[in-house]
Amino acid sequence: MIPYGRQEITQSDIDAVVDVLRSDFLTQGPMVAHFEETVARHVGSTHAVAVNSATSALHIACLALGLGQDDWLWTSPITFVASANCGLYCGAGVDFVDIDPRTYNLCPKALARKLEQAEREGRLPKIVAPVHLCGQPCDMAAIHALGKRYGFRIIEDASHAIGGKYRDEFIGNCRYSDITIFSFHPVKIITTAEGGMATTNDARLAERMSLLRSHGITRDPDLMTHEPDGPWYYQQIDLGFNYRMTELQAALGVSQMKRLDEFVARRHALAFRYDKMLTGLPVVTPWQHPDSYSGLHLYVIRLDPTQTDRRQLHVFESLRNQGIGVNVHYIPVHTQPYYRNLGFEPGDFPQAESYYAEAISMPMFHGMTEAQQDAVVEALRKAVQQ
Ligand SMILES: *Cc1c(COP(=O)(O)O)cnc(C)c1O
Repeated sequence: MIPYGRQEITQSDIDAVVDVLRSDFLTQGPMVAHFEETVARHVGSTHAVAVNSATSALHIACLALGLGQDDWLWTSPITFVASANCGLYCGAGVDFVDIDPRTYNLCPKALARKLEQAEREGRLPKIVAPVHLCGQPCDMAAIHALGKRYGFRIIEDASHAIGGKYRDEFIGNCRYSDITIFSFHPVKIITTAEGGMATTNDARLAERMSLLRSHGITRDPDLMTHEPDGPWYYQQIDLGFNYRMTELQAALGVSQMKRLDEFVARRHALAFRYDKMLTGLPVVTPWQHPDSYSGLHLYVIRLDPTQTDRRQLHVFESLRNQGIGVNVHYIPVHTQPYYRNLGFEPGDFPQAESYYAEAISMPMFHGMTEAQQDAVVEALRKAVQQ
């Protein structure tokens, strides 16, 4: 089976992890800070907070921004459930904004319309969390302008997008947001096995997230309610979690970061080849906004119903039977049973739902060979013809 995504691990990655195994610290040592500095420097943010997953990063980002009961978080329905669940963790309500049919990202026009209505009803969101689907950045300038007008804060879910650019600047510099989060799950662009990071330019938000990632405990006398009792002393000043990243993961992350530009460039080369080879097939290839340099975590095609009667399920099963590990990203979150129980219904976000009926993620990963890619395209040709 040719997988849809796969990590790229070299001997230098292995050596970096083994070095940590032989060192004094397996957790809470110097490597996590080193990884944070490496990412912050690369993307151009002043702060970075490493955690054990992007899901954890989303959770503490929401808490740091003060999300709580009676608040709303809005995100895209075409995302992994974690982008929405973080709002529910905080006791807030979650709602969605339909996608743009060309980029599949949260649509700023739909957002503007929904905000107008929410203002009338007195239920404006506290946080909007746009998701850079497949690595392509959202229209951040437009979303940011709406944030200024309606007073919401912005978390970019850039789980797919490290190494990508928006208007010639790296995603994660938070020019148009309060916090950006990344995922380092093995299918993503770089990996730490499990892991995530939040970047920000706000020292207070960074401090808050650092506290929340480790039980709400501080050793900083400036943050304590009174002088330390002694050198052993720490204080719990908030209710936090154990969301810490290990030194092993951070070492792998530092090592992977050295090849980030190469990883993204390789994905662009593969995507360019797919674009060319898929012309003539009844599919819509990914459209790239001229403002964006995508991280290209995913290469999603849409079956074009005006050109073929073949349905997604048929094509998907045919590809799987031919040894091609295709996938679908994502099932619209509002149609999940848990969200249906909160009152959402099929039909609520029509663009998201028609995207879901036609989308297939093609295999794309660093080590993919041209021969493998040729085999994928040949299998797709068969699948749409049979
Ligand atoms: C992978 C992913 C997450 C969650 O990442 P983890 O590191 O697995 O917690 C969140 N949002 C999106 C869009 C993702 O693709």
